Amino acid sequence: MDEKAFLDDLRRRFPHEPEYIQAVEEVVSSIADIYDRYPAFKRVNLLERLCIPDRIISFRVSWVDDHGNVRNNMGYRVQHNNAIGPYKGGIRFHSSVNLSILKFLAFEQTFKNSLTTLAMGGAKGGSDFSPRGKSDMEIMRFCQAFVNELWRQIGPDTDVPAGDIGVGAREVGYMFGWYKKMTREFTGTFTGKGLDFGGSLVRPEATGYGNVYFLLNMLATRGISLEGKRVAISGSGNVALYTAQKLLELGAKVVSLSDSDGSVVIPEGLTQEMFDEVFELKTLFRGRISEFAEKHADVCEYYRRERPWRHVKADIAMPSATQNELDADDARALLEGGCIAVSEGANMPSTPGAIREFQAARILYAPGKAANAGGVSVSGLEMAQNSQKLTWSAEEVDNRLREIMADIHAQCVRYGKEDGSDYVDYLRGANTAGFLKVARAMMAQGVV
Ligand code: GLU
Repeated sequence: MDEKAFLDDLRRRFPHEPEYIQAVEEVVSSIADIYDRYPAFKRVNLLERLCIPDRIISFRVSWVDDHGNVRNNMGYRVQHNNAIGPYKGGIRFHSSVNLSILKFLAFEQTFKNSLTTLAMGGAKGGSDFSPRGKSDMEIMRFCQAFVNELWRQIGPDTDVPAGDIGVGAREVGYMFGWYKKMTREFTGTFTGKGLDFGGSLVRPEATGYGNVYFLLNMLATRGISLEGKRVAISGSGNVALYTAQKLLELGAKVVSLSDSDGSVVIPEGLTQEMFDEVFELKTLFRGRISEFAEKHADVCEYYRRERPWRHVKADIAMPSATQNELDADDARALLEGGCIAVSEGANMPSTPGAIREFQAARILYAPGKAANAGGVSVSGLEMAQNSQKLTWSAEEVDNRLREIMADIHAQCVRYGKEDGSDYVDYLRGANTAGFLKVARAMMAQGVV
């Protein structure tokens, strides 16, 4: 494969989409060898069909704010690939959302969903609407206007949206409500729903817990215990908080959290009481990390507008905020501080330069598409429960989540183990395993 020509062509066709190109470049460089090994792939131009989304739906979302002003946002759904199951992936509401970001997320989702062992294709959607500072009724009106445009394009066997940044149980509830009204059907078209109307137990916890389960699998390959380890986390949304909760339960120390205003570093680690407080602050009151840091100034340091990486001494890093939040300098600072493992809770949080640093140092490094796949996995389990019209116990869902994370880890090891050494390139492993399943399905289904 002429990797460079392929990427140059993509850059020429999509000149203003750096995140999308970054995600494609990372996968293409991992799978180039295996792609060349099977000439049949090239004959049907599989790579291009796999990298360019099947379909993009874009629309204007007009809604009325509390003061009677008419506001307009952009809305999108990127249906990337449905070779192995219905399109599946979250919805992101954030002021930074644009097509490049949603295309990268939908592309990543395709490989992630393939790794989960469940039947889900890849998609992503969202809007440049920012829920921050909006009233509950404004959020509801926006969600309804968004789904008013999208409802014809989704369905339980077509495309199943869920949450992502800025979209949690509240937003999913409002979107599901409007979808149900338009279709007159009660189906499992959204996941991440409330427990009383078809949601799955353990779905809110799943991404964070799943990342810790993945980390445990990685540490086990080197005979390292998690107990007492210092873990730096970024973010303080659903992924970060449940990661912290599981880490505390397992006896690790959580030494940082952050939000878009800044980072809190807790050198001695969060106590359970402090965790309960920050959990309540973030989930019930939608407060800021700075308020928490101020209250605990005796044991915390606060870094305004900064990420935690250069200010912590950590054995393990679990970036769980957003894309490109950890660069090469951050990676070097973490390595100098003795970091031995990085497991990504966010999608593509490490820049290509940071990944190069981690891999050159040969520490354990797991990309988000493997490590954070627990969230969408339990979404897949929610779809299964909805189809059966049954609810599984928390124990059953959690056990399945552990099994799925162990399976994803095994796939990474199988395809990522370097010849003649014990080193596992989890990035190559995840990309190759994710690619092969989708590629086989695409080959079998012809040019569609
Ligand atoms: N947004 C989450 C992800 O990045 C979850 C998607 C889903 O549950 O469909 O995987």
